[in-house]
Amino acid sequence: GLSDQAFVTLATNDMYCQGALVLGQSLRNHRTTRKLVVLITPQVSRLLRVILSRLFDEVIEVDLTDSADYIHLAFLKRPELGVTLTKLHCWTLTHYSKCVFLDADTLVLSNVDELFARTELSAAPDPGWPDCFNSGVFVFRPSLETHGLLLQHAADHGSFDGADQGLLNSFFSSWSTADIHKHLPFIYNLSSNTAYTYSPAFKQFGSSAKVVHFLGSAKPWNYKYNPQTGSVLDQGSGSVSQHQTSFLNLWWRVYHRSILPLYE
Ligand code: UDP
Ligand code: MN
Repeated sequence: GLSDQAFVTLATNDMYCQGALVLGQSLRNHRTTRKLVVLITPQVSRLLRVILSRLFDEVIEVDLTDSADYIHLAFLKRPELGVTLTKLHCWTLTHYSKCVFLDADTLVLSNVDELFARTELSAAPDPGWPDCFNSGVFVFRPSLETHGLLLQHAADHGSFDGADQGLLNSFFSSWSTADIHKHLPFIYNLSSNTAYTYSPAFKQFGSSAKVVHFLGSAKPWNYKYNPQTGSVLDQGSGSVSQHQTSFLNLWWRVYHRSILPLYE
């Protein structure tokens, strides 16, 4: 059924909550029929919890230091993987039969409920190394068994990039070869700030993007926005491309129109 499927995101602090809110609103704007879940950690303020609860069906606090022994142990062995292990917590949402994880720095541009037709682990190629999947958007099946195996893998092997993407790629290592149905089209995880060197492809397919991902260090909430012009201010670096600017403006339009009023 539809009510046992959910979109899931993660925010460990109030800044990432701004991203989660815009993402949640973008899913609502495009009339998703699935539940919306956000995982948070104890650092998230009371105010943001209240605001998140206006948009998400479930706001679930995850505290690794206070978790079951096996999680706590994995955490103590690899404290540098804190945020990564928090993301893995999405596998414990066993009251859902299938979920789609979306990073808090993603924005949905159209209805993407069709992703629930896919199976674990489905994801799109990483723009930097296409034999790896990007872990900003993935389809998964909650399972305590899988969760335990992932934590064991983290404790034993760590992560080759220090984050969830390295860990998930080494755990789901057959992704690139085993089943083409688990390769999501790139338009489900289009990085906004990658300089695409195959520009005819971007011209042909870029406008079909369904999920844009603001990966990297400059997140939308780090920019300044002018609501009069509906445009982010150029931070002076001059390195922001035209298509990136239009995705940033879209993020900010949702933030300004629908998220700021939630604070009133
Ligand atoms: N995240 C978080 N707090 C942090 C860092 C990351 O909540 O301090 C979550 C958030 O959902 C974020 C995801 O982990 O979207 C992955 O991190 P990020 O998007 O910054 O990595 P990138 O996509 O840029 O590699
Ligand atoms: Mn991201």
